[in-house]
Amino acid sequence: SSSDDEGEEYLFKIVIIGDSAVGKSNLLSRYARNEFNMHSKATIGVEFQTQSLEIDGKEVKAQIWDTAGQERFRAVTSAYYRGAFVALVVYDISRRSTFDSIPRWLDELKTHSDTTVGRMLVGNKCDLENIRDVSVEEGKSLAEEEGLFFMETSALDSTNVKKAFEIVIREIYNNVS
Ligand code: GDP
Ligand code: MG
Repeated sequence: SSSDDEGEEYLFKIVIIGDSAVGKSNLLSRYARNEFNMHSKATIGVEFQTQSLEIDGKEVKAQIWDTAGQERFRAVTSAYYRGAFVALVVYDISRRSTFDSIPRWLDELKTHSDTTVGRMLVGNKCDLENIRDVSVEEGKSLAEEEGLFFMETSALDSTNVKKAFEIVIREIYNNVS
Protein backbone atom coordinates (compact mmCIF):
# COMPACT_ATOMS: atom_id res chain seq x y z
CA SER A 1 0.00 0.00 0.00
CA SER A 2 1.06 3.58 -0.40
CA SER A 3 1.54 4.08 3.32
CA ASP A 4 3.97 1.17 3.39
CA ASP A 5 6.05 3.06 0.82
CA GLU A 6 6.66 5.95 3.19
CA GLY A 7 10.24 6.08 4.29
CA GLU A 8 11.22 3.36 1.85
CA GLU A 9 14.88 3.38 1.02
CA TYR A 10 16.72 2.19 -2.00
CA LEU A 11 20.33 1.08 -2.18
CA PHE A 12 21.89 0.40 -5.54
CA LYS A 13 25.36 -0.87 -6.23
CA ILE A 14 27.18 0.74 -9.13
CA VAL A 15 30.47 -0.47 -10.55
CA ILE A 16 32.94 1.52 -12.63
CA ILE A 17 35.00 -0.50 -15.09
CA GLY A 18 37.39 0.19 -17.94
CA ASP A 19 41.11 0.17 -18.65
CA SER A 20 43.70 1.55 -16.28
CA ALA A 21 44.09 5.37 -16.18
CA VAL A 22 40.89 6.23 -18.09
CA GLY A 23 39.76 8.27 -15.06
CA LYS A 24 37.50 5.88 -13.13
CA SER A 25 38.74 6.92 -9.68
CA ASN A 26 38.53 10.60 -10.56
CA LEU A 27 34.97 10.26 -11.90
CA LEU A 28 34.01 8.80 -8.54
CA SER A 29 35.87 11.40 -6.47
CA ARG A 30 34.44 14.21 -8.61
CA TYR A 31 30.92 12.89 -8.15
CA ALA A 32 31.11 11.90 -4.49
CA ARG A 33 33.42 14.60 -3.09
CA ASN A 34 33.84 17.14 -5.90
CA GLU A 35 37.56 16.41 -5.92
CA PHE A 36 40.03 15.83 -8.74
CA ASN A 37 43.57 14.50 -8.47
CA MET A 38 46.07 15.13 -11.27
CA HIS A 39 48.48 12.48 -9.99
CA SER A 40 46.12 9.86 -8.65
CA LYS A 41 47.65 6.50 -7.94
CA ALA A 42 45.87 3.19 -7.80
CA THR A 43 43.14 3.40 -5.21
CA ILE A 44 44.23 1.85 -1.95
CA GLY A 45 41.81 0.88 0.77
CA VAL A 46 38.68 2.57 -0.51
CA GLU A 47 36.24 0.03 -1.80
CA PHE A 48 33.23 2.18 -2.42
CA GLN A 49 31.60 5.51 -1.67
CA THR A 50 27.97 6.06 -0.93
CA GLN A 51 26.08 8.97 -2.41
CA SER A 52 22.43 9.80 -1.69
CA LEU A 53 19.94 11.49 -3.88
CA GLU A 54 16.22 12.08 -3.69
CA ILE A 55 13.92 10.74 -6.39
CA ASP A 56 10.12 11.10 -6.08
CA GLY A 57 10.61 12.09 -2.46
CA LYS A 58 12.44 8.84 -1.70
CA GLU A 59 15.98 8.50 -0.54
CA VAL A 60 18.05 6.62 -3.07
CA LYS A 61 21.55 5.60 -2.07
CA ALA A 62 24.13 4.70 -4.64
CA GLN A 63 26.99 2.58 -3.42
CA ILE A 64 29.63 3.25 -6.05
CA TRP A 65 32.53 0.82 -6.29
CA ASP A 66 35.97 1.61 -7.61
CA THR A 67 38.50 -1.04 -8.58
CA ALA A 68 41.61 -0.96 -6.43
CA GLY A 69 43.71 -0.94 -9.57
CA GLN A 70 43.10 -4.65 -10.29
CA GLU A 71 42.16 -3.79 -13.88
CA ARG A 72 45.87 -3.36 -14.57
CA PHE A 73 46.28 -7.10 -14.17
CA ARG A 74 42.92 -8.04 -15.68
CA ALA A 75 42.11 -9.33 -12.23
CA VAL A 76 38.80 -7.65 -11.43
CA THR A 77 37.06 -10.36 -9.44
CA SER A 78 33.48 -11.53 -9.63
CA ALA A 79 32.97 -10.22 -6.07
CA TYR A 80 33.42 -6.74 -7.52
CA TYR A 81 30.49 -7.25 -9.89
CA ARG A 82 28.25 -9.16 -7.50
CA GLY A 83 24.91 -7.48 -6.98
CA ALA A 84 25.68 -4.53 -9.22
CA PHE A 85 22.62 -3.03 -10.85
CA VAL A 86 24.44 -0.43 -12.84
CA ALA A 87 27.78 -0.18 -14.57
CA LEU A 88 29.68 2.74 -15.97
CA VAL A 89 32.00 1.44 -18.68
CA VAL A 90 34.69 4.02 -19.20
CA TYR A 91 37.24 4.80 -21.91
CA ASP A 92 39.53 7.77 -22.50
CA ILE A 93 38.66 9.78 -25.64
CA SER A 94 42.37 10.60 -26.10
CA ARG A 95 43.47 6.93 -26.13
CA ARG A 96 41.93 4.67 -28.76
CA SER A 97 43.23 1.47 -27.18
CA THR A 98 40.93 2.11 -24.21
CA PHE A 99 37.93 2.38 -26.57
CA ASP A 100 38.99 -0.84 -28.33
CA SER A 101 38.84 -2.59 -24.92
CA ILE A 102 35.17 -1.77 -24.38
CA PRO A 103 33.78 -4.99 -25.94
CA ARG A 104 36.00 -7.00 -23.61
CA TRP A 105 34.68 -5.09 -20.58
CA LEU A 106 31.10 -5.62 -21.74
CA ASP A 107 31.75 -9.36 -22.06
CA GLU A 108 33.26 -9.44 -18.61
CA LEU A 109 30.24 -7.62 -17.21
CA LYS A 110 27.93 -10.13 -18.90
CA THR A 111 29.89 -13.05 -17.48
CA HIS A 112 30.04 -11.82 -13.91
CA SER A 113 26.77 -10.03 -13.35
CA ASP A 114 23.27 -11.18 -14.16
CA THR A 115 21.70 -8.31 -12.24
CA THR A 116 23.05 -5.40 -14.24
CA VAL A 117 20.20 -3.55 -15.89
CA GLY A 118 21.62 -0.10 -16.51
CA ARG A 119 24.80 0.37 -18.47
CA MET A 120 26.39 3.59 -19.60
CA LEU A 121 29.30 3.99 -21.96
CA VAL A 122 31.39 6.92 -20.74
CA GLY A 123 33.97 8.68 -22.91
CA ASN A 124 36.01 10.49 -20.26
CA LYS A 125 38.58 13.32 -20.61
CA CYS A 126 36.47 15.26 -23.11
CA ASP A 127 38.47 18.33 -22.00
CA LEU A 128 41.31 16.89 -24.12
CA GLU A 129 39.65 17.90 -27.39
CA ASN A 130 43.01 18.87 -28.95
CA ILE A 131 44.32 15.31 -28.69
CA ARG A 132 41.01 13.50 -29.25
CA ASP A 133 41.50 9.99 -30.64
CA VAL A 134 37.89 8.71 -30.63
CA SER A 135 35.07 10.74 -32.18
CA VAL A 136 31.77 11.43 -30.44
CA GLU A 137 30.03 9.58 -33.30
CA GLU A 138 32.06 6.41 -32.71
CA GLY A 139 31.14 6.45 -29.04
CA LYS A 140 27.49 7.04 -29.84
CA SER A 141 27.24 4.29 -32.42
CA LEU A 142 28.96 1.69 -30.23
CA ALA A 143 26.53 2.58 -27.43
CA GLU A 144 23.59 2.25 -29.81
CA GLU A 145 24.76 -1.14 -31.08
CA GLU A 146 25.16 -2.47 -27.56
CA GLY A 147 22.06 -0.79 -26.11
CA LEU A 148 23.91 1.44 -23.65
CA PHE A 149 23.42 5.01 -22.59
CA PHE A 150 26.25 7.23 -23.75
CA MET A 151 27.89 10.34 -22.42
CA GLU A 152 31.20 12.13 -22.74
CA THR A 153 32.50 13.44 -19.43
CA SER A 154 35.42 15.28 -17.90
CA ALA A 155 36.36 14.53 -14.32
CA LEU A 156 38.83 17.41 -14.67
CA ASP A 157 36.35 20.18 -15.48
CA SER A 158 33.22 18.33 -14.18
CA THR A 159 31.41 18.16 -17.54
CA ASN A 160 28.49 15.68 -17.33
CA VAL A 161 29.87 13.79 -14.31
CA LYS A 162 26.85 14.31 -12.09
CA LYS A 163 24.57 13.78 -15.07
CA ALA A 164 26.14 10.44 -16.02
CA PHE A 165 25.72 8.99 -12.52
CA GLU A 166 22.23 10.38 -12.07
CA ILE A 167 20.94 9.04 -15.38
CA VAL A 168 21.92 5.48 -14.48
CA ILE A 169 20.70 5.81 -10.90
CA ARG A 170 17.32 7.07 -12.14
CA GLU A 171 17.17 4.30 -14.71
CA ILE A 172 17.62 1.61 -12.10
CA TYR A 173 15.17 3.33 -9.76
CA ASN A 174 12.56 3.34 -12.55
CA ASN A 175 13.22 -0.36 -13.14
CA VAL A 176 12.71 -1.48 -9.58
CA SER A 177 10.22 0.98 -8.09
P1 GDP B 1 41.75 5.07 -13.24
O1 GDP B 1 43.00 4.24 -13.30
O2 GDP B 1 40.80 4.69 -14.34
O3 GDP B 1 41.11 5.07 -11.90
O4 GDP B 1 42.17 6.58 -13.60
P2 GDP B 1 42.48 7.80 -12.59
O5 GDP B 1 41.21 8.40 -12.08
O6 GDP B 1 43.48 7.38 -11.60
O7 GDP B 1 43.10 8.86 -13.62
C1 GDP B 1 44.26 8.55 -14.38
C2 GDP B 1 44.92 9.85 -14.82
O8 GDP B 1 44.06 10.56 -15.71
C3 GDP B 1 45.25 10.80 -13.66
O9 GDP B 1 46.47 11.46 -13.93
C4 GDP B 1 44.10 11.79 -13.70
O10 GDP B 1 44.48 13.04 -13.20
C5 GDP B 1 43.79 11.86 -15.21
N1 GDP B 1 42.37 12.17 -15.48
C6 GDP B 1 41.27 11.57 -14.95
N2 GDP B 1 40.15 12.11 -15.45
C7 GDP B 1 40.53 13.08 -16.31
C8 GDP B 1 39.82 14.01 -17.15
O11 GDP B 1 38.58 14.06 -17.21
N3 GDP B 1 40.58 14.86 -17.92
C9 GDP B 1 41.94 14.84 -17.89
N4 GDP B 1 42.58 15.73 -18.69
N5 GDP B 1 42.66 13.99 -17.11
C10 GDP B 1 41.95 13.12 -16.34
MG1 MG C 1 41.61 3.92 -10.21
